[in-house]
Amino acid sequence: PISVPGIGKIIEQRNNKFIKRGFDFKIMVVGASGLGKTTFMNTLFSYHLKDVDHQKPVLEKGKTVEIKEHSFEIKMRLTIVDTPGFGDRVNNDQCWEPIVNYIKKQYEDYLITESSVDRPFHFADKRVHLVLYFIAPTGHSLKPIDIIAMKNISEHANVVPIIAKSDHLTSEERESFKQRIKKEMAFNEIKLYPFDFPNENSVEELALNSKIRSFIPFAVVGSERFVLGNGNNKAGHGRKTRFGIINIEDETHCEFVPLKSFIMETHLQDLIDTTSKLHYENYRRHVLSSEDV
Ligand code: GDP
Repeated sequence: PISVPGIGKIIEQRNNKFIKRGFDFKIMVVGASGLGKTTFMNTLFSYHLKDVDHQKPVLEKGKTVEIKEHSFEIKMRLTIVDTPGFGDRVNNDQCWEPIVNYIKKQYEDYLITESSVDRPFHFADKRVHLVLYFIAPTGHSLKPIDIIAMKNISEHANVVPIIAKSDHLTSEERESFKQRIKKEMAFNEIKLYPFDFPNENSVEELALNSKIRSFIPFAVVGSERFVLGNGNNKAGHGRKTRFGIINIEDETHCEFVPLKSFIMETHLQDLIDTTSKLHYENYRRHVLSSEDV
């Protein structure tokens, strides 16, 4: 996992308080179909998930609906929002729009509940806390649709890009693809999570953020299969590829473990706080100030 000296205690204290209270967490997965989104989410949560309705840790697939929600009960109330059909059409000019509309609709609902005279003391937080954006492992550059979609979505929510199915690339190809994507994202001024708040973050937290930024976009391999180890590989969740067997928990082959620790441990609360303090606040200010006019 990604770490810096002195951060462990800070995170532990923060998470202990937080988990005791209970919380909602909503992840949206965006990317063309077939990029391994369902597989990845099942890999990420297979150890924790229990589907409330079906009692099994499997995400149902649907190609006909634009946006699908799946709720799971774990220590947190987790909702995964799937976006089947993204980028599958001939004309994808506006295909990010339903996603942004969905995100804004959650803010709108939250604002209505929060502003009601007899608002409940505790109410469900249905806002999207994290958007995992899946990039195809082409090895070339970002597609125009990726740039425009990430740019628009990141104006409203925390976006973390991922190179999907990275077993299609050799480690050299993966590294140069990563560097090219980083450059393209910087050039297009895409505002990616995590954000630094120097007045609020400790030196350790800022150091951790910068370490995380060095990984972005995370190159991952998803697998729901257990593979046997051979040679240097340990047995575990893995995938047979043309380069041999990949154990997805082996950090030299796949950045699954650092990504999981980033989302589920070190930045879980920060994802929720940033949604509330930055994205929702921007929405709220925008809506309320335009109502004044
Ligand atoms: P989705 O449409 O984005 O949800 O994609 P799925 O999770 O259904 O995966 C589509 C296909 O790709 C399935 O056959 C998966 O087994 C396969 N797949 C998923 N993840 C990976 C990966 O990391 N590498 C490779 N090579 N195949 C993968």
